[in-house]
Amino acid sequence: MTRVCGPGAFKIVDLVLVNSPIHDYSRYPRYESSYSTPVGLLYVATSARNAGFDASILDAEHRQLAPAEIAAEINSMSPRVAGFNTFSINFAIVERITELIDPHIRIVIGGPHVSNMPAGHFGARLRRAQIMVRGDGESTIVDILRERHPSTIPGIYFRDALGMTVATAPAADISLDELPIPDRTMLPTEPYWRDGRRWMDISISRGCVFTCKFCAGSCRSNGTTYRRRSAESVVAEIHHLISNHQVQGIQIVDDLPFNGRAQLLDFLDLLEKERISLSWELNFPLQFLRKLSAVDIARMKALGVSRVSFGIESGSLQTRRVMGKFAKEEELFQVVRTLAECEISAKGYFVIGFPGESQLDMELTIDLARRLHAVGGSFFRPRIFMFKPMPGSALWQSLLAAGHSMDELLDYADFELERTYYNKHAWGTNRKYALVPPNVIQEMINDFYTSIGEQD
Ligand code: SF4
Repeated sequence: MTRVCGPGAFKIVDLVLVNSPIHDYSRYPRYESSYSTPVGLLYVATSARNAGFDASILDAEHRQLAPAEIAAEINSMSPRVAGFNTFSINFAIVERITELIDPHIRIVIGGPHVSNMPAGHFGARLRRAQIMVRGDGESTIVDILRERHPSTIPGIYFRDALGMTVATAPAADISLDELPIPDRTMLPTEPYWRDGRRWMDISISRGCVFTCKFCAGSCRSNGTTYRRRSAESVVAEIHHLISNHQVQGIQIVDDLPFNGRAQLLDFLDLLEKERISLSWELNFPLQFLRKLSAVDIARMKALGVSRVSFGIESGSLQTRRVMGKFAKEEELFQVVRTLAECEISAKGYFVIGFPGESQLDMELTIDLARRLHAVGGSFFRPRIFMFKPMPGSALWQSLLAAGHSMDELLDYADFELERTYYNKHAWGTNRKYALVPPNVIQEMINDFYTSIGEQD
């Protein structure tokens, strides 16, 4: 918002939204990392701009800024409000940044960590934040910038005059079709280049209907409702990206952009009807992927789908079932083989170190990742992560019930790998939940990446 004062005009910065760093870049070397658009922040910043406020985004993750560098940039801009997206793995880093921010700047925190943690957690943590936004932030940020009293803003925690954390009533879910097309001009990195083409990211849904036990993204974990945008709204944004940004590829960033095979096929029909010719990357859960025929997959390729990502999780059928992934091994191999035959790249995600897992269980998972890699060749990229308890997930709840404190569960480890595609850091836990200690699991992951020896 530009304010006039005397004969000249000066600009008041209303809002700086920080794409918070996933790692503490003051402690580690800065490696090349893969770029991902902070789509959620773009929506929030665009809503603030459309309401007449001066809003910008500081992409601290992409620039790999250290906490002191981020605080210095914010302090020099001196906004009325500094907002941070916060994940459970990086909330302690965000906490350190906020402690370095000038006291006159109001601090607002949003993101999954806030949405999935109870109010009591914020009594002792993130003390510099005055407001914590649970769930959708688009209308909440406008209320905050208009300086509505926090007690009248739904869907937040705020600190009252005594410093106590108070929760307001949950906010109603926003209809995604009412949101504006995000203003990508706020990000100098957009569009980004991949495989010699101009890419941008979009979001067409929020939430996930599945209930995988380790995952905090499930609607059941965070008390949200699964929502999708209408075909008209999605088509309007695609045409906007083509005509205004000349994009040649679009990544759909959502956990569950299509809730089933039928919705994916509807989307392919739409691409055909609208004569949209782009490259596409998207997540499509194995639960649905295994139901696609070879003809469906060949049609995906013909309509531009160049990469799909999906979670496999474990080499043990029993563990897959417990975690909520029901694919049989032969179905997995069939999916990976057909994708490779159609020249669609696939990223398969695995987790080792689940509570109670033995070293043999984990070796089964690593062995499955290797065998799928052998079948898919350069078209299948396995990604192995270390289990960490995520707030709100069913495993978080059972570990709490088993006597672990929240502080223990949040004791994450940021360990360094010798080799991965891009970023050589990985998040895990310092605590022992499997039958072997965390450092053994970290070494298994490191050995796996070193042995497959891939570069992107
Ligand atoms: S792991 Fe994926 S499919 Fe399972 S609940 Fe989370 S987002 Fe949904």
